[in-house]
Amino acid sequence: MALDFKQGISKQITKLNMKTSTFLEENKIKTYIATLENDIRDLKVKAGELGYAMWKAGDFDVARLTPMYEEISTKEKQILEQEQQMREIVAKNQQVLGQTSSEQAPPPTANTITCPKCGAACPSDVNFCKKCGNKLRG
Ligand SMILES: [Zn+2]
Repeated sequence: MALDFKQGISKQITKLNMKTSTFLEENKIKTYIATLENDIRDLKVKAGELGYAMWKAGDFDVARLTPMYEEISTKEKQILEQEQQMREIVAKNQQVLGQTSSEQAPPPTANTITCPKCGAACPSDVNFCKKCGNKLRG
């Protein structure tokens, strides 16, 4: 009994740590993406200014712009990679926490009622939620 309790607590802590680390990891990626987006904006401004200056001088040389375009393209790919990584972290976390859509409570039927507290589908003839123990009637 005491062991079950301890195991329950450590499981909760694991979940909490998981949530926290996912949160930090997500924030780190979001910050990185924001940095990349800023870099891209700067590069576009610079490329635009250089392009205009060259055009104005009657000496438009696209070869001088290509490295900037390549850098922008590289950074765009990095953003996509970071976004993919973030999706993987979120999906992995949901798997560990048992929040995959397949495990969600089935929709209520005529013979079930949905617990207002935890959302579990319970038989309509029970007084307490089978999942969280919430009082369902009376
Ligand atoms: Zn419940």
